[in-house]
Amino acid sequence: MAEVIFNKLEKVYSNGFKAVHGIDLKIADGEFMVIVGPSGCAKSTTLRMLAGLETISGGEVRIAPKERGIAMVFQNYALYPHMTVRENLAFGLKLSKMPKDQIDRYVDEAAKILELEELLERLPRQLSGGQAQRVAVGRAIVKKPDVFLFDEPLSNLDAKLRASMRIRISDLHKELKKSGKPATTVYVTHDQTEAMTMGDRICVMKLGHIMQVDTPDNLYHHPKNMFVAGFIGAPEMNIKPGKLIDKAGRLHITIGDESLPLNARQQEKVAAYQNQSVFFGVRPEFVSLSDEPFAEGCCTGEMVRTENMGHEFFVYLKVADYELTARIPSDEAKPMIEKGLNRKVWFKFDMDKCHIFDAKTEQNISL
Ligand code: ADP
Repeated sequence: MAEVIFNKLEKVYSNGFKAVHGIDLKIADGEFMVIVGPSGCAKSTTLRMLAGLETISGGEVRIAPKERGIAMVFQNYALYPHMTVRENLAFGLKLSKMPKDQIDRYVDEAAKILELEELLERLPRQLSGGQAQRVAVGRAIVKKPDVFLFDEPLSNLDAKLRASMRIRISDLHKELKKSGKPATTVYVTHDQTEAMTMGDRICVMKLGHIMQVDTPDNLYHHPKNMFVAGFIGAPEMNIKPGKLIDKAGRLHITIGDESLPLNARQQEKVAAYQNQSVFFGVRPEFVSLSDEPFAEGCCTGEMVRTENMGHEFFVYLKVADYELTARIPSDEAKPMIEKGLNRKVWFKFDMDKCHIFDAKTEQNISL
């Protein structure tokens, strides 16, 4: 049982650089919270303050109740090179003066969960990257902590191993929860796929500020600002400049020389922005393409590039002075692509899935 609270948490490094700007965050008991953001946004600094590895310059970190056990897994594994896997797993417990038979039991338990049983007598240099990372996770598990901290634990692994470790760590969290001993988890990564697949909630950071804290689904479908909209999702959301104009009593968003009508909800939300420049956002999967005009609400662009992903194509359209990405199922894309590139096609958006952002504040004004 442990709740983690950041209260106006600040970090100013000794050279005067302010890395964390008074952030507030409440992580519930047993919650899996992912902190995600580009390199330099202060994810590690924040986690290290929580772990007690970095001094706090302002505000506070509270772990309630106090004196809860914390265990941290690092990106570089930090295994002791001269100790076997078994000794690495047991080391922290030995320091805490736990009786030997209990240590053996805890180590065997962790080895079983992480499938390390065959590797217990090996030295770290005799392990692959994935195995070493499993030992690093094992070393945290044996402590049976109330709070698990992960600092980019999978960054040194190849894509396939990352995917399987992701599932392993998620499963571990679920199993602990099911067994009635939930571990509150704070997981730092720059990888939005890890964030989306692992987090109960995700905290998106930029330059020492929190941009949004929400469920994966809400971040994806209801991003609060342009930063979150652009950061979450691959390929990235199309975010382009446009203007909101009135046409026959209905607000339209300009797409180059053409325009698309907003839906009723958007009309209402952004009414005050008429005749103003804004940014509109549409994810590539909400762009449809055709060789002929759609019945209504469509624009034209030039198909300039395609990428074959197997089950789908990424199709790049030149529209005005920018490029739009569309994600089209292979069956639909292939016949169009066979007719050749560099020609005019028609496209439309699923307007219900589009976003409009204030050009200055970059806040989503269509939510
Ligand atoms: P992230 O983990 O998101 O990549 P960090 O927490 O490592 O970001 O760093 C956040 C910011 O703080 C960066 O701009 C980084 O250069 C700066 N920083 C990190 N450590 C120090 C330090 N010891 N002294 C001064 N600035 C630092």
